This record gives sequence, structure tokens and C-alpha cells, in this order.
Amino acid sequence: MALSQSSALVIGTGGLGGPALLALAAGGVGRIVLVDDDVVDTSNLNRQPLFGEADLGERKAAAAAARLATLHPDARIEPVDERFVAGRADALVASVDVVVDGSDNFPTKFLASDVAVRTGRPLVHGGVLRTSVQILTVVPGQTGCLRCLFEAPPAPGTVISPAEAGIVGGVSGFAGALMGAEALRLLAGERGAYAGRLFAFETRTARGRIVPVRRRAGCPACGAAAAGAIPRPPDGAGAPGSPGGAGAVE
Ligand SMILES: [Zn+2]
Repeated sequence: MALSQSSALVIGTGGLGGPALLALAAGGVGRIVLVDDDVVDTSNLNRQPLFGEADLGERKAAAAAARLATLHPDARIEPVDERFVAGRADALVASVDVVVDGSDNFPTKFLASDVAVRTGRPLVHGGVLRTSVQILTVVPGQTGCLRCLFEAPPAPGTVISPAEAGIVGGVSGFAGALMGAEALRLLAGERGAYAGRLFAFETRTARGRIVPVRRRAGCPACGAAAAGAIPRPPDGAGAPGSPGGAGAVE
């Protein structure tokens, strides 16, 4: 598929989504849908390359779209100023060729994985906590999904949140750029570098590893008896940029 004929959805426009969006736009992807319901805050500027001081207080979706349009005027950039929630998620994901999850909380990440599996769209999942990075590509029907790996999101309060842990700007930029490059590979018809392979990298020590993620027969999302078995969060649960999320991500 020519990249100009391809489409991508990016969930979140921040530390992960921002660099991924830059890669997709600069790479020539023809249609880019971005979802974010947050506003630009001073605390974002250390790691969110789509935004500058002039954007403070602006809606992230609109500001990100405006920035990307200057990079790639021919692209159709579609900002969606909403939370990525059950009910809306399936239609958004089904409308594109690949999904990049740059959200900052576990409920959204599991929703993205579930919807990708349901709609058959490949998903590039990524997360950052402090100085460590994780990336996994889910290819529905071929590789394991997020629930093959973790089954369910951690209970709120059991995992430190990015807001509590802090995120080093260059680290999320690194992860987001890798996620964007992975999405471009998938759109070009290549097998993803992280397809069924969880890449975990600690930037502080430069130690990395690959963990195989295979489909699990008992997976509630993509296992043998999964049809209709995915628990759906209530509308409103899990959104990019939502404060206090329990995710080890963004
Ligand atoms: Zn699964």
C-alpha cells in the first residue's frame, strides 16, 4: 500500500503520540486521525514535541493537527477532541489501517488492544515509566494481544502513575519515534519489528530485552472462546491525558 493511500489512528498527542505523529506525517501517511480530549499544560512541554508555549491552554487535538498540517500539507489530518472510549472506539479504529496507542493509562490501553483485536487492525502499543520503555505490536489473529500478556489492567492504585513517577522527555520521545517507525513499517506491508515481541528497554543502563508474546488459548480477548467475552469498560473510562490514571505509560 502506498503510504499516501494509507491511514493511521493515534491515541493521545503527548509524549508518545506526538513523536509518533511527527513520524507518520513526515513519512507521508495520507490520512491521520488523532484523538485527545486534553488541553496543553506547562507540565507537558518537557516531552510533547507538538506543543510550545504559544499553545498553552489550547485544545491538544486542534493544536496537534495545526502543527502536523504545517509539516505535511497534503495529509488529511482529522483531530478528534474526545476521549477514546468504548462505543466510539470501534468506529475510529475500523476507519484506519493501523493504530498507535500513545495513551497514558491502562484502561485506554486495554480498550485499544480489545478494539484492535475485534476490528482486525494492527496495534502498536507503547508505554514509558520513568526511564524505561515498552513497545509491543499486536497483529490480530497472528500475535498475542495485551490480554494474552497481562489479562487485565492493574487495579487502581497498585501501579505507580506517570504523574507520580515522572517521565524523562527524551525517553518518551525515543519510544514514540520507535512506535511511529513501526507503524510506517506495518503500513508499508512489512512485518512489524515488535509483532508478538515485547521490547523492554531501560535507557538508564542501556539494557534491553525481547519477550515473545504468543496468543493464549484462554485469552479473554483473542482466545478460542473470546467472541463477545471482552469486558467493556463503561463509557467515559480511560482517556488519553486523563489525570491520575494508573498506567505505567505515556
Ligand atoms: Zn489475547
